[in-house]
Amino acid sequence: MLSLEQARKWLEALTAVYTRQKEYLTELDSAIGDADHGVNMARGFSAVADEVQKQNPQTISALMKLVSMTLIRTVGGASGPLYGTFFLRFSQATDGKDALSTSDVLHALDEGVKGILQRGKAQVGDKTMVDAWTPAMKRLNELASSDMPLSEIMQNVTKAAEEGMLSTIPLVAKRGRASYLGERSKDHQDPGATSTVYMLQAAADTW
Ligand code: ADP
Ligand code: MG
Repeated sequence: MLSLEQARKWLEALTAVYTRQKEYLTELDSAIGDADHGVNMARGFSAVADEVQKQNPQTISALMKLVSMTLIRTVGGASGPLYGTFFLRFSQATDGKDALSTSDVLHALDEGVKGILQRGKAQVGDKTMVDAWTPAMKRLNELASSDMPLSEIMQNVTKAAEEGMLSTIPLVAKRGRASYLGERSKDHQDPGATSTVYMLQAAADTW
């Protein structure tokens, strides 16, 4: 089961990892974008930490809604509305629940990723965060009905996301700013796929 406390721990871990990886994510984005992905994520999740402390939401759903609104408000760039939509759908999927079972988590993440797909219209192979999310969700679907503990499931899911992230390196970008570079976007790892891996790794560490 995933409690409100563990959901909060996840967000704390996200604030920490995006602060720690700010330079690296921005470096990845400087190769095929506009060198702001790390700055965007660090700004967004430090605002999340402030808002969570100020407003102290008392359900997982309210917490995730606050994350969504804060990211949409504070993260410039494509990633703000995309992650914002992810957390909004997560919030809607968990409305009325005190704690989440593994199948609730599967459902909430699945809804979140559907939101990213609808909003960004990217497909696997377009060299975006979708290349990390898609194999991650496939692995989660395979493991959700096993009796593996949630944190171990998420560890496996993170591995699948990591493979997806690495698969972006040889790709030509079809969506987002990197697509302006055409062939020159090859041989670089996608920054958004990388921030997605951190999001899942933090879940594995705290759930
Ligand atoms: P921007 O590109 O506007 O500067 P960021 O640098 O914060 O925004 O985020 C870039 C990341 O957003 C990319 O690495 C990619 O993973 C993701 N991205 C961009 N467009 C899309 C899209 N249409 N669908 C999914 N992900 C996208
Ligand atoms: Mg950028």
